Parts: sequence; structure tokens; C-alpha cells
Amino acid sequence: MKTVRYIKEIRDILSSYREEGKTIGLVPTMGALHDGHLSLIHQCMANDSITVVSIFINPTQFNDEKDFRMYPRNTEKDLELLKKNECHIVFLPPEKEMYPTKEIRKFDFGSLDKHMEGEFRPGHFNGVAQIVTKLFSIIEPDHAYFGEKDFQQLTIIKAIVRQLNLPVQIISCPIIREPDGLAMSSRNPLLTASERISATKIPEALFKIKELTDKMGINELKEFLWNEIDLDPNLRTEYVEIVEETGLNPVNNWDEPGSKRACIAVKVGSIRLIDNIKIS
Ligand code: AMP
Repeated sequence: MKTVRYIKEIRDILSSYREEGKTIGLVPTMGALHDGHLSLIHQCMANDSITVVSIFINPTQFNDEKDFRMYPRNTEKDLELLKKNECHIVFLPPEKEMYPTKEIRKFDFGSLDKHMEGEFRPGHFNGVAQIVTKLFSIIEPDHAYFGEKDFQQLTIIKAIVRQLNLPVQIISCPIIREPDGLAMSSRNPLLTASERISATKIPEALFKIKELTDKMGINELKEFLWNEIDLDPNLRTEYVEIVEETGLNPVNNWDEPGSKRACIAVKVGSIRLIDNIKIS
């Protein structure tokens, strides 16, 4: 496994692989790796000749300075795990390498960032787009792998690729959960023992939705789930939304056309967790 910190070096390495006819897959991460990340990496290794995992905690996508400071950093452990999983290249750039000058690019995502994460984390997706487009231009991957765990992010990245005609195919990967249903997240280890127990109510609420679609209207259902979660003193719901999957606009009626997905954000103590489930 090669650990590379500088853009020129990774470009040189990848161009020689490309000349040999090898395909390149990219798995962008912010580190503190868990089995969710590993599932993306394994899918990449199965599809592409060369797997590049980037680890970069991107400051421009944090709308909250404290969240950025508190974000878990475990580089040594991550590198060990990646080596054990036979990843080919880890790209671990310093901040100055990714942002040599102050980043000012602004993106327009239309309706895609008007609700949910886009509403509650202003500027978040602009920062995501800044770093992901930089990674795409440095690595020039054939495929890039993203998790459905961050469904709005995945949808926005697919939209950027179309908007900018980028020569990369986005591969979406399913959500990996703990045995009790909690979606794996780098933030989970920040929970206290009692918050960790409370957090299982998030997937429990999401899994109930499918049973309740025949019994309740959408607004009634959202209110029901919101109240059920917030009964736990460790939990405070930020949003529960049922959206149409392509435009990510909230749906008010089960009869509206299109595939639907339920998305949720909950503060568990001071830690903010998100999750989602496909409904139809
Ligand atoms: P992050 O390091 O949190 O920025 O995540 C890096 C990538 O891993 C993103 O594409 C996430 O959607 C994906 N990811 C994070 N957690 C999970 C999970 N539990 N299951 C599947 N993919 C995940």
C-alpha cells in the first residue's frame, strides 16, 4: 500500500497505472474508518484495478467550527486497517495541498439542497462539491464510490457530475448498520453509553415507516415519529422528511409520483446523526 501526500506524486503514480490500461476507483472519506467505509472500498476493489482511498477532513464542508475540531481523527488506525484490507493507494493530503488559495467557488444545486442537510447545514454541500470536484480532477477516477447513508450528498454529487460533464461514474453503495440497526458513522464513537442506547431509536423509527404508510398520511406519520423519538431525553429531532428521490422535494401525499425515501437528522446529546430508508 502506498501512502501519498502530494498531488504531483499521486498524479505520476496514477498516470503510469493508466498507461498499463488499469482502471482507477476512488473512495473519498474523512477517515475514522468503519465497516461502512470498508464496504465501499471492497466494492471498489471488486470493480477497479486500482483502489484509491482519500482521507481528508474537509474544513469547507463544516458549517460549525466546533464540529470540525471535534471530528474524530485516527490516521494511524485507519492506515493499519487499509493495509490489512489490501487497499492500493491512500491519498492523505495536507490542507495547503488541497486549498493552496482561499476557496471561493459557488455551486448551484437547484432544489437538491433546499431541504434537510442543505437547510440545516448552510454551505455544507458547497464545501462537499468543492472538495469532491478537486479530488476528481486530481485522481481522474473511472468510478467513485459513495454511500447511501448520505443520500442527499450522493444525489448532489451525481448532479454535479452531470452538470460539469465529468468523466467519472458514481457508484452508490448501501447503508451498513450495526447489529442493532444504527447506521455506522464516524461520529458514533463520540456518543456516551446512554446516548448510544438511545440512538437505536432512530433506525427503529425509520423501520416502522413501511408498516405505517397504509395507516397514516405523511404529515401525521412525520409528527408521530418526531414525537416518538423526542420522548427520549437524549434525543432531539431536527427533521423527519419524506422526499421524492430524484429532486429531493418533500412529498405531502403517498399518491404523489416517484420513488420515495424517508430521511432523518437527530441530535443525540451534542452529536448529530443522520439516517434514511427507501420507502418505495
Ligand atoms: P465520511 O467519511 O463520513 O465522509 O464518509 C465517506 C463515505 O462513506 C461517504 O460516501 C459516506 O456516505 C460513506 N458511508 C459512511 N457511513 C456509511 C455507512 N454506514 N454505510 C455505507 N456508507 C457509508
